[in-house]
Amino acid sequence: MAQLLGRSPSTISRELRRNVCAGSYASAPAQRMCHQRRLASRPLPKLHSQGCLWFVVSTMLTWRWSPQQIARTLRRMHPQDSSLHISHESIYTAMFRAARVHRSIALEADARHLVTDVWTSVGVVVGIAAVALTGWLWLDAVVAIGVVLNIVREGWHLIWRSSQGLMDEAVEPEVLADIERILAGFAHRRGDVSIIRFDHIATRRSGQRRFVDLHLHMPASWTLGRAAALRGDVEQALMSAVPGLRATIELLPSDVEAHFNGPKDLI
Ligand SMILES: [Zn+2]
Repeated sequence: MAQLLGRSPSTISRELRRNVCAGSYASAPAQRMCHQRRLASRPLPKLHSQGCLWFVVSTMLTWRWSPQQIARTLRRMHPQDSSLHISHESIYTAMFRAARVHRSIALEADARHLVTDVWTSVGVVVGIAAVALTGWLWLDAVVAIGVVLNIVREGWHLIWRSSQGLMDEAVEPEVLADIERILAGFAHRRGDVSIIRFDHIATRRSGQRRFVDLHLHMPASWTLGRAAALRGDVEQALMSAVPGLRATIELLPSDVEAHFNGPKDLI
């Protein structure tokens, strides 16, 4: 088997030892188990979305409290309980992480808004201190222009990102790398001949959803049942690696290419 797949025998036996499910080996459950093991090996951050502290912090955020206020209040209310102590930087990081996980531009906008507020406050303090120290009144105006430019920059960045969300755009490079890794796990060659191959991979995202269209080429002698089973395995592996992904897989024999592969063929 190792010779056929071009891998070392120890790799194959390790894969079988680790990923046998209910007494037999199948690619989709193996992929799922590997994914779960990888998640379990990462330590949870203090502010993870299932934790009690996140519940407290997110409630305070809905009251429009700033991360600095939340961090200070929790420390004052529970001086002995270090499990409730959190820095405001960790709250910003958790907000950006939640925005990324939920792919929510609104959440990201809220986090950026709070960060901008912090820089505005820093600018005001620096402006007043600089004028007091030097006596140069124009310094106040220069700092104010810097603060405004920062707000405009953040605002423009958010408008740009939101407009991209309204248009079809390819998935993020790391998601594409995940998709390609899964497909490479299913691709199969015998010598120079590819038995199973994937091509015409096209991805797009629309708001929170991600889509992938691709061809799955396989031997023409396969039965429809066998082909459909493989397609099911590939779909499941893709969806467990990239949550929320919708895969459209066209089945084709190895030596046949689809005549029409999308709008670009019309040009
Ligand atoms: Zn193809």
